[in-house]
Amino acid sequence: MIEQLQATPMWDICIIGGGATGLGIAVDAASRGFKTLLVEKFDFAKGTSSRSTKLVHGGVRYLQQGNIKLVMEALKERGVLIKNAPHLVKNQAFIVPNYKWWEGPFYGIGLKVYDWMAGSLGFGPSQFLSREETLNLAPTLDADGLRGGVLYHDGQFDDARLAIHLAMTAVDQGATVINYMSVEGLMKANNKVCGVILKNMLNDGSFSYEVKAKAVVNATGVFTDSILKMDDAKADDLVAMSQGIHIVLDREFLPSGTAIMIPRTDDKRVLFAVPWHNKIIVGTTDTPVNNASPEPKAMEEEIEFVLHHIQKYLTKDPDRSDIRSVFAGLRPLVKAHSKTTAALSRDHHISVSNSELITITGGKWTTYRKMAEDVLEIAIAKAGLADVDCQTKDLHIHGYKNETDFSKPLYYYGEDEKGIHSIVEADKTSGERIHPTLPFIKAEIAWAVRNEMCMKVDDFLSRRTRALLLDAKASVESAPLVAEFMAKEAGKNENWIKNEIDSFNSIAKNYLPTSNNKLLIPSDRISRADTN
Ligand SMILES: Cc1cc2nc3c(=O)[nH]c(=O)nc-3n(C[C@H](O)[C@H](O)[C@H](O)COP(=O)(O)OP(=O)(O)OC[C@H]3O[C@@H](n4cnc5c(N)ncnc54)[C@H](O)[C@@H]3O)c2cc1C
Repeated sequence: MIEQLQATPMWDICIIGGGATGLGIAVDAASRGFKTLLVEKFDFAKGTSSRSTKLVHGGVRYLQQGNIKLVMEALKERGVLIKNAPHLVKNQAFIVPNYKWWEGPFYGIGLKVYDWMAGSLGFGPSQFLSREETLNLAPTLDADGLRGGVLYHDGQFDDARLAIHLAMTAVDQGATVINYMSVEGLMKANNKVCGVILKNMLNDGSFSYEVKAKAVVNATGVFTDSILKMDDAKADDLVAMSQGIHIVLDREFLPSGTAIMIPRTDDKRVLFAVPWHNKIIVGTTDTPVNNASPEPKAMEEEIEFVLHHIQKYLTKDPDRSDIRSVFAGLRPLVKAHSKTTAALSRDHHISVSNSELITITGGKWTTYRKMAEDVLEIAIAKAGLADVDCQTKDLHIHGYKNETDFSKPLYYYGEDEKGIHSIVEADKTSGERIHPTLPFIKAEIAWAVRNEMCMKVDDFLSRRTRALLLDAKASVESAPLVAEFMAKEAGKNENWIKNEIDSFNSIAKNYLPTSNNKLLIPSDRISRADTN
């Protein structure tokens, strides 16, 4: 990828940011035949795009708010995505439990409207359920006072895996995509942005590059304003941030496979408890924050809030010791004059500066494809690129496989699963698990290093697999094995192994749920930085 970077004198489009938004733009641009470069400061989906609720949805909450346009667009995109990535998007049944007399008719009718809006792209009709039917489908729901429920369908996915497969789709279409490559400045000619200055983050920044492009797109999520300020130091801030956290519990709390949607929490939000990779993820919150961080940290009050609300609905109350992991993400919301972030727009927003830097922010994972199409229309007009039609409505995502058995351990690789099996055939020991309580095998490490630009232990444990989000303690315990295996694959030395383990431990401590986090990391694996 870096050789391609150096060998290309002029790109049609350079995209800054390798989350859902940037990767979607890279796929769209490359599939139209444009010379496309995407650079990501950390790993693909390291930001918000690996920290979502993992729903491909129209957004029942936005329906409650009356944002019909957003819901319609998202439902349409949900249908497009399950068609193009059937190996990654799953039809998930949800129950809205009803404890008050009016909830059945109110949510039942609302969800009928949701079905109707999805039209032929619907995932299955919603249904009114009796008390018995509700408990059959979700036996661990608190039966006390339960009157019935409403069943509906939405999509569920693995966000980081889709991001990796989007990066691979972009490459399949001819794009150059590079992780750990930061944009440090913009180049200008005649007051127009004409390129970017890059720093390689993997070697202390001692390599930097100047890259020319006809169009430059800022798709940096909560970091949008830092790029806008590179263009114009006096530019107004565009983004407001809101943090959302999830806790991860064992499957026993919701064993039936049906998800729960609680439509109204104390702060008027929706709370989900959704089966995911044989665990349950529960969230989320909506807390305004001021600082953009690549590793946001769940606040104590947020953990308490989620626990408190889910305890109200389950027969067995989960407590802090039941939390396997806790992860936080930052929503990039387009600024408006509003005090609460819950009321800020979830629509995407595209702007073009006087110097023709194109910025896209806001939106949802679900609508990434449409967002990309909208950006490309503007880039074509502004940069004078060939007027080629969008190709992504029918473009299969890398790994596409029609018949997917979501209960199989390696299902999320789609067609690439064969590659992992070949590695195991060549070396039987690579079929061993990386940890007794994690489903991942050593061959996945080799596959990720060879084929998925997996550069760091965190990349493997957080985004090539989801070990850190599923069981933070087990992921810490498996870090030394992963580091050694990666070092063997990539020709790294002992020093690299030690640094990688230390660096992963300092990330993982924020995912460990007790307030006394350090006790959960074996003392020999605590880096000096952590003990300070
Ligand atoms: C708690 C939560 C739950 C959500 N749940 C859902 C859901 O269930 N379904 C749904 O559809 N949507 C959901 N969303 C929304 C969705 O996750 C986001 O809209 C989407 O991930 C935003 O992607 P992005 O690419 O714009 O930002 P990001 O994923 O943050 O990507 C921006 C990237 O830019 C990179 N970057 C920053 N500065 C530079 C630089 N100088 N040079 C190079 N790269 C740089 C960053 O490292 C980052 O990787 C949720 C969001 C949150 C916070």
